[in-house]
Amino acid sequence: MLYKLSCKGLSKKKENESYNDLLCVQGRCFDLPNYAKQSSADKVHGLQHNLEIGIMETVRFLIHYGLHFLFPILVAYIFFRKKWKLVSLVFLSTMLVDLDHLFAEQIFDANRCSINFHPLHSYYAILVYALGLFWKKTRTISLGLIFHMLTDWQDCFWIH
Ligand SMILES: [Zn+2]
Repeated sequence: MLYKLSCKGLSKKKENESYNDLLCVQGRCFDLPNYAKQSSADKVHGLQHNLEIGIMETVRFLIHYGLHFLFPILVAYIFFRKKWKLVSLVFLSTMLVDLDHLFAEQIFDANRCSINFHPLHSYYAILVYALGLFWKKTRTISLGLIFHMLTDWQDCFWIH
């Protein structure tokens, strides 16, 4: 079973509550109650379901990090050919706004939407980034920051 891992420590299960099996994908755990008692048809069905979640999570991961790391370099190369390396670096440096995650109780949570949760991902911050588009000096970094926010925002639609 590709995605089935034991991760009892990660789940916030209550005492007395019994989980025969836990499915964990990127730190997110799903309980599979009475797995051992299930018929083989149910097990196959469950396995397909888990695999679907696993595939979806992998797609989500690839899109999120592709947009964070590969897309900015691509945009810099296509639209800022003459100084694409510098522009790429500016775009990638917008990842620094994720330092605001350090103020959160749980630094990383795949089930949480960053937008309007962390201070540098708040609507006020986004407004400041948008204003930065009006000045030539801040335009590139603002563009990167807004794109960072769009990347984090699309990720929120994957939360289930
Ligand atoms: Zn972010």
